[in-house]
Amino acid sequence: FDIRQQTVSPAEKEFEKALRPLKFSDFSGQNGVVDNLEVFVEAAKYRGEPLDHTLLHGPPGLGKTTLSNIIANELGVGFKITSGPVLDKPGDLAGILTSLEPNDVLFIDEIHRLSPVVEEYLYSAMEDYRIDIMIDKGPSARSIQIDLNPFTLVGATTRSGLLTAPLRARFGINLHLEYYDPETLQKIIKRSAMLLQVPIEDEAAVEISRRSRGTPRIANSLLRRVRDFAQVKGNGTITFDIAQMALKALNIDQYGLDEIDNKILTTIIDKFRGGPVGVSTIATAIGEDGGTVEEVYEPFLIMEGFIKRTPRGRMATKLAYEHLGRNPYTSNIM
Ligand code: ADP
Repeated sequence: FDIRQQTVSPAEKEFEKALRPLKFSDFSGQNGVVDNLEVFVEAAKYRGEPLDHTLLHGPPGLGKTTLSNIIANELGVGFKITSGPVLDKPGDLAGILTSLEPNDVLFIDEIHRLSPVVEEYLYSAMEDYRIDIMIDKGPSARSIQIDLNPFTLVGATTRSGLLTAPLRARFGINLHLEYYDPETLQKIIKRSAMLLQVPIEDEAAVEISRRSRGTPRIANSLLRRVRDFAQVKGNGTITFDIAQMALKALNIDQYGLDEIDNKILTTIIDKFRGGPVGVSTIATAIGEDGGTVEEVYEPFLIMEGFIKRTPRGRMATKLAYEHLGRNPYTSNIM
């Protein structure tokens, strides 16, 4: 059972789609982000203009795709979805751009992974709703300019640090999604259980929320697995006992930490005596990319109090030692 869900199976995708909120009012949490978006969407609608290009950044599974879909729904416009790695050539992008209706939303996931040529091509589309395309080949090849319908680009990225300055500058709205607190996750879990028509006890929702790594995608995915246990080992209701039994059987960490989280903590404690140690050193030691550690993993570990940021680097906290069953008195921590 892969809790990180970096690759999502087709069944999982279908399931996600069924639980995906379609309106701002169904979307829990991220209050600051949602409040702002509601105003911007309302204003754009009032003026009959496209919403400004919007950049959503934050770790995976926190609702970037969901929010962009909601934006399109609330604007009452069409929604097209693609991703950075899929757009291989400028022609791929041109095909999508020319198919957009006025004020449509184009969602580009993993926008930090656009190839430089495609990215450059996007600039004039974003700025002037205009693109150049090449027609003919050989000596008669020439480029012609095409006007596009006004549109909104919503870009999503887990790694905003990798975005080039010119691309970043073309987004009028720039919003960061944070990990969710357990209370909000409980709301999301209960809503999903209702949609799945599976009864759930409050204590069971609390238990699942605590182990969901602050991430709605993981919460929904755990709910789905726990439901199996409730239906096979119980009477269909997700009780606290069933939830605990299922989470144990699935080997879900008591704090919802995943393998990489645990590797990071183990590295700081065992290899660097609890720190302080720089992020890039940690990343090298576990064979991950430094930016991913800093933008995706570390924010959760800091929020939950497992590591601390100090001027000289990262330090493991007492909680991290306890969690891994290590003795804090052999370390550098206070
Ligand atoms: P991202 O694009 O950031 O990786 P998604 O938008 O695909 O994340 O969200 C993953 C799943 O989590 C979706 O199926 C969606 O139903 C659920 N989800 C995310 N955020 C929320 C939220 N705030 N409220 C309810 N469900 C959410």
